[in-house]
Amino acid sequence: MTAAPEKVDLASLPLEALTRFVSDDLGEKPFRAKQLYRWLHQRGATSFAEMTDLSKSLREKLDERAEIIGLTKDLEQRSVDGTIKYRWKTRDGKLIESVYMPSPERKTLCVSTQAGCAMGCRFCATATLGLLRNLTPSEIVAQVHAVNRAVRTEAQLVKTLRPLTNLVFMGMGEPLHNFEHLKTSLGILQSEDGPNFSSRHITVSTVGLVPMIARFGEETDVKLAISLNASNDETRDGIMPVNKKWKIADLMEACRNFPLRQGRRITFEYVLMAGVNDADDDALRLAALLKGVPAKVNLIQYNENPGLGYLSTVDNRAERFRALLEKAHVAAFIRANRGRDIAAACGQLANTEKERSFTPLRPLVARRAEP
Ligand code: SF4
Repeated sequence: MTAAPEKVDLASLPLEALTRFVSDDLGEKPFRAKQLYRWLHQRGATSFAEMTDLSKSLREKLDERAEIIGLTKDLEQRSVDGTIKYRWKTRDGKLIESVYMPSPERKTLCVSTQAGCAMGCRFCATATLGLLRNLTPSEIVAQVHAVNRAVRTEAQLVKTLRPLTNLVFMGMGEPLHNFEHLKTSLGILQSEDGPNFSSRHITVSTVGLVPMIARFGEETDVKLAISLNASNDETRDGIMPVNKKWKIADLMEACRNFPLRQGRRITFEYVLMAGVNDADDDALRLAALLKGVPAKVNLIQYNENPGLGYLSTVDNRAERFRALLEKAHVAAFIRANRGRDIAAACGQLANTEKERSFTPLRPLVARRAEP
């Protein structure tokens, strides 16, 4: 007995590939592909039955040959600061997370690109999972579509209205370790017939897969963030194993060569951990490293993860660190901690249950607005 042919994962296809499938495989007029694509990526349709302006025969063909691979909501946790952490289940049972962070100026979604992560950063809860697998483009964009649907208010009667304004690829996984799927997802998310995000409103963060940074710069036009977290190799080797392969000097060279669009800067994320990387000397070395690089530094006071053994830098030390950078003419900001009470903050995504005990060390308020 021969196995049934695998169905096409429709929401993973860029418009051109979808058009080929619709015309060559289904024998339909190519313009149908655009209708279908808009249903998938503007309205976030999760079934062919919803696509009422497609003929019944086309919907039947689609049912037979293709599928819409989405995510099932597994858990939703709301922080006192308005942050919502969504936990999704993939079809094969992997749990991944996205974090919605609304503010008066923007509505941002932090997106995951992998189930788990292979990078092994010592301070990060996701690292404890190891890499389970890469997410497909459809699973990456499904996070955006699902949250757009979830936060669309009833007053927003236009179905295609997109409440999310910004995307940051800083959730579970190392985006450049799943580059092909990241690139396809970005193409869909930026397309006019899709959600139409501007490149200025999308940021991808990497720990520094040096050869991939050049490719990322050549093949995409979105913003780059580097998760740096140390000012010398000795410290970075101890907290980020990737640094054993590509040293800070290699990383900085890749940043200097990065094709920045006019007016843009590279964001350097620096998680402040008490006694690890938060000394005055670290601030001065960091300022020296960034000399000549159009950069801004986001300082993040570490969100403590039980069992990982790192402590957060206290407020006045963080402020002194920022001030030292500023004095050295480096734009530096202490980033508001979002969703700490629901383990939704940076480095805390590890499929933990709602019941996990987590005691915030300080009130959940923004001390300095993000720029
Ligand atoms: S910080 Fe990012 S890259 Fe490092 S282990 Fe965590 S998810 Fe992976």
